[in-house]
Amino acid sequence: MQTDMTTTMTEPRTSSPQRGWRTAPRTLAATAFLGLAFGLGAAESAPTAEPPIVAPGPPPGDAIVLFNGQDFAQWRSQRGGGEPKWRLVEGCMETTQTGGIFTREEFGACQLHIEWATPSVVKGDGQGRGNSGVYLQGRYEIQVLDSYNNKTYPNGQAGAYYGHAAPLVNACRPPGEWQTYDIIFHPPKQRPDGPVQDGSFTVLHNGVLIQDHVPVKPQPTTAAPLKGVVERGPIYLQDHGNPVRFRNVWIRNL
Ligand code: MG
Repeated sequence: MQTDMTTTMTEPRTSSPQRGWRTAPRTLAATAFLGLAFGLGAAESAPTAEPPIVAPGPPPGDAIVLFNGQDFAQWRSQRGGGEPKWRLVEGCMETTQTGGIFTREEFGACQLHIEWATPSVVKGDGQGRGNSGVYLQGRYEIQVLDSYNNKTYPNGQAGAYYGHAAPLVNACRPPGEWQTYDIIFHPPKQRPDGPVQDGSFTVLHNGVLIQDHVPVKPQPTTAAPLKGVVERGPIYLQDHGNPVRFRNVWIRNL
């Protein structure tokens, strides 16, 4: 092979006007050959570590299950910190007017999956219909609302980063049907030299992209129960006075 390459490299060139582009591939091939022979280039393309194997589930094998339909083991009440007074019904948890609930564990950058449903019997309108919310770190809300044939301000409808960014599209299912959020969150970060670096939200609603790497500001959204920029904080589900159900909640640390 080396002989062939040498022959190729040293064979007489013609003086045709096409010589430039005809010889370029040979030069590239020779460079690649020499690079490989001396171990150059190989390190650049080699992965530094083999990615871990994760059974995709759902839930994925490396996820923390936050609600499995059985109990509130992973949650505490906003009021008093004890066991939530929400209802456990048909494998899901339903808000009651007893305040929101926090996860016991705290999270930084994460991928959160949560399913929710607003009542099939529609009551109220605007912000008063099936209102709840998923707050990352207890600070940054992705709105839960029945936004199926229900007008409100765009940055307050279902899937909004509340008060900041309307969803790209309205992917709501009718009231009573189960809906999914898949949220990829990176928290704002306090830099050692002072300024706070924005975080980001990427959100899929029923599998449809609705927030595309949107900056998350350090100030908490309206009605957030917690404040301040932190490395890790709890997930918070809001009681906004309307009955809303949740199930199949899991999270992966990123
Ligand atoms: Mg809300």
